[in-house]
Amino acid sequence: MSLDELYQDVILDHYKKPRCHGSILNPDCRSSLHNPLCGDTIDLMVSIQDGKVNDIAFSGHGCSISQAGASMMTELCKGKSVQEVKDLCKVFRSMMRGEKSSQEIQVLGDAVALEGVRRFSARIKCALLAWDALEKCMEQAEDLSCPTESKIPA
Ligand code: ZN
Repeated sequence: MSLDELYQDVILDHYKKPRCHGSILNPDCRSSLHNPLCGDTIDLMVSIQDGKVNDIAFSGHGCSISQAGASMMTELCKGKSVQEVKDLCKVFRSMMRGEKSSQEIQVLGDAVALEGVRRFSARIKCALLAWDALEKCMEQAEDLSCPTESKIPA
C-alpha cells in the first residue's frame, strides 16, 4: 500500500469540504494543538448543553489527514454526550493501535477511513491531533458539570 492510497475518496472529500469548519461564539471548551512533526494545527471549540456537544467547530491548517480527520471527528461528535465522545476517543486510539476489529470501529463513521494511516508511524500523530484536542475539550466539559468545592458558596 502506497501513501497515495491513503488518500481515499472519503478523506479527500472531508479535506475539500470540511464539516463543522469555522468557530463558535463563546465556546465552553477550547483546545489549540500543534503537531510539529508535520506542521499541522487544530483549533477546536465546543459548546456544551445538558451534558451534550451542542455545537462543535474547528479551524486549522496542515496535511489532508489532520484536516480531514478533524472534519470526520467533529461531524461524528456533534450532538453526542460527553461520555459518548470520550468513549469514541478511546475507540479511535485503539483503532490506531490495531486493537479493534473492523466491526468494532464502525461506530467511528467516516473516521474508519483513517485506519490505514497506522501503517505509517510518522502520520499517526496527524490522525490523532483532532482527537487529542477533543479529549482536552472533554476534560474542560467535565469541569463545567462538576464544580469544585471552592466554587460552592459557604
Ligand atoms: Zn500532518
